Amino acid sequence: MNETPTCIGCGAPIQTERPGELGYAPASSLNKEEIICQRCFRLKNYNELQPVSLTDDDFLKILNALGERKGLIVKIVDIFDFNGSWLPGLHRFVGGNDILLIANKSDLLPKSVKQQKLINWMKQEAKKLGLKPVDVLTVSAHKGTGIQEAMEAIDHYRKGEDVFVVGSTNVGKSTFINRIIKQATGQSDIITTSHFPGTTLDMIEIPLDDEKSLFDTPGIINHHQLAHHLHTQDLKMIMPKKEIKPRVFQLNAEQTLYIAGLARFDFIKGDRSSFTVHVANDLPIHRTKLENADALYEQHLGGMLAPPSAEFKDDFPELVRHEFRVKDAKTDIVFSGLGWITVQHPNVIVAAHAPKGVEVLLRPSLI
Ligand code: GDP
Repeated sequence: MNETPTCIGCGAPIQTERPGELGYAPASSLNKEEIICQRCFRLKNYNELQPVSLTDDDFLKILNALGERKGLIVKIVDIFDFNGSWLPGLHRFVGGNDILLIANKSDLLPKSVKQQKLINWMKQEAKKLGLKPVDVLTVSAHKGTGIQEAMEAIDHYRKGEDVFVVGSTNVGKSTFINRIIKQATGQSDIITTSHFPGTTLDMIEIPLDDEKSLFDTPGIINHHQLAHHLHTQDLKMIMPKKEIKPRVFQLNAEQTLYIAGLARFDFIKGDRSSFTVHVANDLPIHRTKLENADALYEQHLGGMLAPPSAEFKDDFPELVRHEFRVKDAKTDIVFSGLGWITVQHPNVIVAAHAPKGVEVLLRPSLI
């Protein structure tokens, strides 16, 4: 007599009658040598099971749940949106747990960016935001760069405990997890969903050893992300796809640059200087006189100054002006989620205009 086959993923007895219940597999799969139930199949092909994005309330629940568990928190941020992909309050909730900060999308940075400068900046920024990570790493989940090192760091810092991966939407958390699954788990390893007590949230659980697991938490929406103000088709344009090619502009005082219709940069006062723009290569940059800049925006937003494209421009937040007196040469004006402009010469006054809610900050140049 044949024994009932079991799923190679979860070990449940395979049944072919009741879809949606434990161990269900289509009858056609019974003649395969290794049978996997539909649920495990979906989990393995992880993309089908990306967790939903969270509301603010869910976010608090998740943070609370993490604080009650022991383990390493791996926080993924987007190198281009360090501040926009921050999770406010994380440090208050994680209690005694260590945090490892991993900045993703390193493949987009120009080659001239110095790794160490980038890492130092992120450490300082994290500290300002109240977080003291045990380490800061950069990876490209997309290309696989730094993934091995990240996995080794996770293994080192978790000290035999569980791992919780957190991040706001769009930082590339799913891509990162998929990389890890691909690299770390063999064909027959189990990926399951797991429930956190006190929450209604399912986590994806990837066993690390016999006792401990890596948990993928749902993506959290950070309302300050530029990405949330754009529709999908416009979003594709602001997100660089390839290594950014710096674009250099020699400007006189009282000249303005528009980065599409998304941001504006005024050179207000100072000697003729060069400014290097680091944004997605596809975004058009327009130069105009400061005195004409307001009118240009009014007339051409959604047209010459797009994205945002014409059909979405009415939903786009107004630009807010931030003025800076830049004393030091080689200072970056960072537009979170978009990129940055390097002010090459010292002693200038500039103004950066960014959509309301999107952060603008200064940092020493990474180059
Ligand atoms: P999640 O919302 O955090 O899970 O993010 P996803 O994994 O869905 O990625 C969001 C977007 O970033 C997608 O368009 C990805 O293709 C892109 N992305 C993810 N990782 C990388 C990376 O390392 N480099 C680049 N250039 N893009 C990435």
